[in-house]
Amino acid sequence: MAEKQSIILFPFMAQGHIIPFLALALNLEQKSKNYNITIINTPHNIQKLKTSLPPNSSINLLTIPFISSDHNLPPNTENTDTVPYNLVIKLIQASLSLKPSFKYIIQNILTQQPNHKLCIISDIFFGWTSTVAKELGVFHVVFSGASGYGLACYYSLWMNLPHRFTDSDEFPLSDFPEARLIQRNQLPNNISQADGFDDWSIFQRKNNLCDWVNSDGIIFNSVSDFDSVGLNYFTRKFNIPVWSIGPVVLSTGSRGKVGGINPKVCKEWLDTKPSNSVLFVCFGSMNTISATQMMQLGTALEKSGKNFIWVVRPPIGFDINSEFKYEEWLPLGFMEKIVETKRGIIVNDWAPQVEILSHGSVSAFLSHCGWNSVLESLSHGVPILGWPMAAEQFFNCKLLEEEMGVCVEVARGKSCEVKYEDIVEKIELVMGESSESGVKIRENACKIKDMIRNAVKDGEEDGVKGSSVRGIDEFLSAAGKSNKTTLNDRE
Ligand code: UDP
Repeated sequence: MAEKQSIILFPFMAQGHIIPFLALALNLEQKSKNYNITIINTPHNIQKLKTSLPPNSSINLLTIPFISSDHNLPPNTENTDTVPYNLVIKLIQASLSLKPSFKYIIQNILTQQPNHKLCIISDIFFGWTSTVAKELGVFHVVFSGASGYGLACYYSLWMNLPHRFTDSDEFPLSDFPEARLIQRNQLPNNISQADGFDDWSIFQRKNNLCDWVNSDGIIFNSVSDFDSVGLNYFTRKFNIPVWSIGPVVLSTGSRGKVGGINPKVCKEWLDTKPSNSVLFVCFGSMNTISATQMMQLGTALEKSGKNFIWVVRPPIGFDINSEFKYEEWLPLGFMEKIVETKRGIIVNDWAPQVEILSHGSVSAFLSHCGWNSVLESLSHGVPILGWPMAAEQFFNCKLLEEEMGVCVEVARGKSCEVKYEDIVEKIELVMGESSESGVKIRENACKIKDMIRNAVKDGEEDGVKGSSVRGIDEFLSAAGKSNKTTLNDRE
């Protein structure tokens, strides 16, 4: 009988992290009945995950205790999408307190399933889990939902803080010259303010990234055919295997949140629109923009004359869970006009993004360049208007624009000045018929769509497996062959 393999997945508490982990868990479940798959998370996230799993799924959900008020966080704060951005670091710091419980859980699993092989797949923010795994002799990989290129820039910046040693507005990354020059205004706020001793620096440098050396490999929700430069950075940095296995995307069903629009209503509206005529605007699971930026973006959507779906949240500075004030935060008469012309839909907080991006009427995506959003867009050949806001999004955008030619950057950050005229111009460039570069961008997006299709080919048709399928097979084979095997072996 084939040996049972227990696979533990442990995502950080954010929708942008939980979603690819769930997609990966479902993908692994499809691969073999011999995998005993468990997702670990805090109580509220486990409750949400329960509603996201298909009814016949064999994936186990296991709760790790966490009481947010013990960490000076509002009660029941267990996911970044329920806290203002300035509290995200607190939640990240609080997550370090999960270490003893995590170790206890793994020890228990080892005792209860002494003959199972065990493999831990954990989040990039949970570098410390690799130290636990090493102590217990368990095979461990980090799973990055971010691109190789984006994370390489991000990692290099945190470890070296190069902007502190130059007055220049642009500078190279000493250990990642492939990225050429980074511009100062591409730095996420927490990096540009970092001095090595602040909370973010301490977490990233000491408690997180450094621990990766203890891991047995890194898997990326990416595609080596267009992300090899970034993936290679990690191979040479840590001297451990790096496997690209993406995209794993949650295609249907609940993604852990109740939508601000009924997916059926959304589809019906999209069905009424000509092909390639709709702009989708959404900034991920937790971001919003400033009130001034929102007004400019609203004006741009009006002036562009394009059909659009725009996912809105209250602007920065307002309670993210408060009611959206259309009259106050959008241009005068905006809602009346879009209702009258049926040209647009405003969705509160959460839309069925994958369903929207897969619809033939969608032509472009104005996105913050979170990597899940990027993969979901490019899987359908939809080019991107980039408005990166935080973390490695700036470098995803750089990859998309400079290396892949599938994106035009519209704005940078949540406090930059944006002018509606610029946005209109860039929307026209990407969506309009007249511009040569727009045509090229759309062609490139279609080429990437094909690359993605090829990467995930399972070889059933012609015996040729795609690069990402080979990646996941190689990772599973390494986990299966690892001599960090069962508790019995360890004793
Ligand atoms: N998402 C969604 N509907 C929304 C907003 C976001 O389904 O209205 C999903 C999106 O499809 C993606 C994830 O949330 O899978 C966001 O992840 P991403 O990496 O793009 O950004 P993050 O939220 O981590 O900044």
